Amino acid sequence: AHVVCEPCFGCKYTDCVVVCPVECFYESDKVLYIHPDECIDCEACVPECPVEAIYHEDNVPEEWKSWIEKNAEEAPNC
Ligand code: SF4
Repeated sequence: AHVVCEPCFGCKYTDCVVVCPVECFYESDKVLYIHPDECIDCEACVPECPVEAIYHEDNVPEEWKSWIEKNAEEAPNC
């Protein structure tokens, strides 16, 4: 699955949300999350993000690894 990372915090442009074919983005107060069970890894959202916040779970930069779990935990609660 793909993961929304730290740069999204306070941003939420939502350019990614509109291109997602399975509508797996969920919105909290300050940030977006991707539901890992719903994401089909189509990559459509990746180039749309103006702050490069979206990565495949295997390519999440070291400092944002905790966001993998954060997306999984928070997306279902949004
Ligand atoms: Fe949606 Fe595709 Fe992005 Fe996954 S990779 S969040 S399915 S647009």
